[in-house]
Amino acid sequence: MGYVIALANQKGGVGKTTTSVNLGACLADAGKKVLLIDLDPQGNATSGLGIDKKDIDESVYDVLINDVDLKKVILHSSHQGLDIVPTTIALSGAEVELTNLMARETRLKDAFGDVKDEYDYILIDCPPSLGLLTINAFTACDSILIPVQSEYYALEGLSQLLNTIKLVRKHFNSALKIEGVLLTMYDKRTNLGQQVNAEVKKYFGDQVYETIIPRNVRLSEAPSHGQAIVDYDKRSTGAKVYQQLAKEVLARHGKK
Ligand code: ADP
Ligand code: MG
Repeated sequence: MGYVIALANQKGGVGKTTTSVNLGACLADAGKKVLLIDLDPQGNATSGLGIDKKDIDESVYDVLINDVDLKKVILHSSHQGLDIVPTTIALSGAEVELTNLMARETRLKDAFGDVKDEYDYILIDCPPSLGLLTINAFTACDSILIPVQSEYYALEGLSQLLNTIKLVRKHFNSALKIEGVLLTMYDKRTNLGQQVNAEVKKYFGDQVYETIIPRNVRLSEAPSHGQAIVDYDKRSTGAKVYQQLAKEVLARHGKK
């Protein structure tokens, strides 16, 4: 049965999508069958994995709103072994449309069916908000991976996120766990990086991954080529750190 991890932080630009795409690709390279669900209307994971808008017939929007079978919308991404449930900008209307639907918080979970049996890992790239799309992700997942950007006020807003997690645990998903906390866009040339690292560790303890994602320009170039970093530049620092993160995630799951 597939293990479902949501990548979430209501702040934009902290590395959710970059981590979804590249952790997904590296887990696939480790021999796992991986599905990435793009739950952000911006569709950066969809385009970043080489999916052309023209090739999207139905998307995660239709799954959530029109009861389309999740299996029917799965596409192969540009990375071998990594499948994707694409999104389109139509999803931006879903936040409002969901409000009027029955079981509005559990629609993604209810849509999984036997798709879960076909994958080892299912990653959900969440939008930068704590609205109904993110609630759907938290209700459908086993755990949440929180990317935290290494910057001033890195922890700001995280109490809201933790509060949302608490509420989802109470009402929809009592087994919901925190998968881990990942420091991203770390700049080792400044003291700030080290300060933020210490602060985040103080708050989250050993939930913080030992792997830290540095700033690496290759990571920001790869999406415009529709490729995961391991395909765009296998020898880059970005590729190496995401391979290391995949190893650490697998080790935590006891599946070295
Ligand atoms: P989010 O999904 O949280 O909004 P993204 O993953 O899209 O964040 O990252 C925001 C921007 O920063 C993107 O342009 C991305 O390419 C870039 N980026 C992400 N991680 C790194 C990194 N480690 N080094 C350099 N650029 C990065
Ligand atoms: Mg994103």
